[in-house]
Amino acid sequence: MPNKINVLDSGYVALVDSMGGDKAVIEGARRCYMSEPQGESADSKLIRHLIAKDHGTPFEHAYFRFDVKCPIFVARQWIRHRIGTYNEMSLRYCLAKRDFYTPENLSGEALEIYKKTINGAFDAYEAIVASGVKREQARGVLPLSLYTLYYWTVNARSLMNFLKLRLDKAAQPEIQEYAKALLEIFRETMPVTAKAFEEKVMPK
Ligand SMILES: Cc1cc2nc3c(=O)[nH]c(=O)nc-3n(C[C@H](O)[C@H](O)[C@H](O)COP(=O)(O)OP(=O)(O)OC[C@H]3O[C@@H](n4cnc5c(N)ncnc54)[C@H](O)[C@@H]3O)c2cc1C
Repeated sequence: MPNKINVLDSGYVALVDSMGGDKAVIEGARRCYMSEPQGESADSKLIRHLIAKDHGTPFEHAYFRFDVKCPIFVARQWIRHRIGTYNEMSLRYCLAKRDFYTPENLSGEALEIYKKTINGAFDAYEAIVASGVKREQARGVLPLSLYTLYYWTVNARSLMNFLKLRLDKAAQPEIQEYAKALLEIFRETMPVTAKAFEEKVMPK
């Protein structure tokens, strides 16, 4: 299982825990008819049917818990996905580290300005904290490129909604990179559902 996948220059997604898998989807769906799992081929057919008809609740029996490290601007897009549970490191309590994202396409003067501005912001942050101001106020000078960390617990239905929206080329490339890593883990953890999702829903 690809437990941890590196994303961008120092981010990652890691699968910490999962529950249910394809089996829980099948059991949930078959409870409607009080029937039992009927072998690989019939069960895959059922999952494809559920996906095609947008019969979503059986997919809510399968859960994932991810450890995520991403830039704050990616997290802001991510947490718009309300159907899921988040616990994020707090810069009220933790001291920010000089750990920020640099887009690899930046070069020359643009790269210089980018790094200089961010390092200046960190210098200011450290000086403000050292002067006795609370971390929760000093953080106001920090950049959106700063890496943040959170746990994200999400069911397979909501994960597929995330993937549909964030694998789309309309999504910002950085969050697309995270979505690709999540898809890889999804394929390993729920192969039948992921295959049906890729066939019937995933943006081409
Ligand atoms: C390419 C892209 C560009 C975007 N640009 C912007 C932008 O410029 N500004 C901006 O504000 N947002 C923007 N968003 C965020 C977007 O509007 C959604 O907030 C985000 O994609 C989460 O999607 P969601 O609501 O489906 O997910 P979730 O919040 O996880 O919800 C999952 C599903 O649950 C149902 N649901 C959840 N809450 C409710 C509710 N209150 N009422 C009814 N049904 C509900 C819906 O069916 C929803 O699809 C953008 C998203 C994308 C992908």
